[in-house]
Amino acid sequence: MAVERDEKYILIALGGNAFQSKGEAGTPENYWRNAYRAAETIVRIVKEGYKVAITHGNGPQVGIILEWMERSKDKIPPMNMDIAGAMTQGWLGYLLMQAIQNTLIREGVRDQVKGVVAIVNQVAVGRDDPAWKNPTKYVGSYYTEEEAKKLMEEKGWVVKPDPRGGWRRVVPSPNPVENVEVGAVKKLLNDGWIVIASGGGGIPVIRNEDGTLQGSEAVIDKDLAGEVLATGLGVGTFVILTDVEGVYVNFGKPDQKLLREVTVSELEKYYKEGHFKPGSMGPKVLAVMRFLRHGGKKAMIGHLHKGYDVIKGLSGTKVLPG
Ligand code: ADP
Ligand code: MG
Repeated sequence: MAVERDEKYILIALGGNAFQSKGEAGTPENYWRNAYRAAETIVRIVKEGYKVAITHGNGPQVGIILEWMERSKDKIPPMNMDIAGAMTQGWLGYLLMQAIQNTLIREGVRDQVKGVVAIVNQVAVGRDDPAWKNPTKYVGSYYTEEEAKKLMEEKGWVVKPDPRGGWRRVVPSPNPVENVEVGAVKKLLNDGWIVIASGGGGIPVIRNEDGTLQGSEAVIDKDLAGEVLATGLGVGTFVILTDVEGVYVNFGKPDQKLLREVTVSELEKYYKEGHFKPGSMGPKVLAVMRFLRHGGKKAMIGHLHKGYDVIKGLSGTKVLPG
């Protein structure tokens, strides 16, 4: 099939800050503006002849949904984590889908693709994953230490200090093993559609022995789930766009250094030395190492607002096999 490890077939992972930047109120207008900003990058890439699949984070949004549910729980029964994840796929998938469609039209390149489609997408995780016993993923609102302790007592949540400041709830983040609807995504991509899939790391489900699925109370890292999708699709290029310039060694220290081009084995050495924080840069680095070891051609990690340059190799960190 057309997609097989062609470098022009690309999966782009957009960070959670793609839709709600720090310090923004998070109004619908903010969301639309940010969606259009991401769409501009996507359309520039499409114009270059790339066939694009997109995934996105949902950390801030799943947090908002959890808070809505929390505040209205006396009137409306709260939903579960998997249902909240599905809601964010609809919410953000819709924004991106329409923003990209409209941008294609405004740029006069509507005919370059069949169309844009966002899918509700399940990702299977293991029943025996050690993550169930060791929650690591930050979700929801930021609390003070005092509020955090109260929530731990009253709700039995695990709440920890977030490296970016404040205290937040942490939930299990099991390893993604299978993108359930990957076959449909691949068909659409090969047929010329821009596809938005695996949003928020996918809806976390567990596969039973008889093949049936059930939702689970977890959050899957969107970069690791992105790798499962990228590998399942067989794209040649995997790009992760976030809120830093790229991958640094000695991050946050006076001698921090941006890695511009590295091989998987060099990156693995740094990974083992502990340069990349779990729950943020750690899974991105792990995701690109897995992608390249699974046969991917190249991977990039860079700043969302420089997405085009990152893909062109002019900005960010480029990772190659070897
Ligand atoms: P996203 O929403 O894009 O997934 P994350 O917060 O999960 O964003 O990951 C990006 C963050 O990773 C950066 O804001 C940075 O604070 C953090 N980080 C941790 N270690 C590193 C490192 N070695 N190099 C660059 N960024 C790092
Ligand atoms: Mg992240």
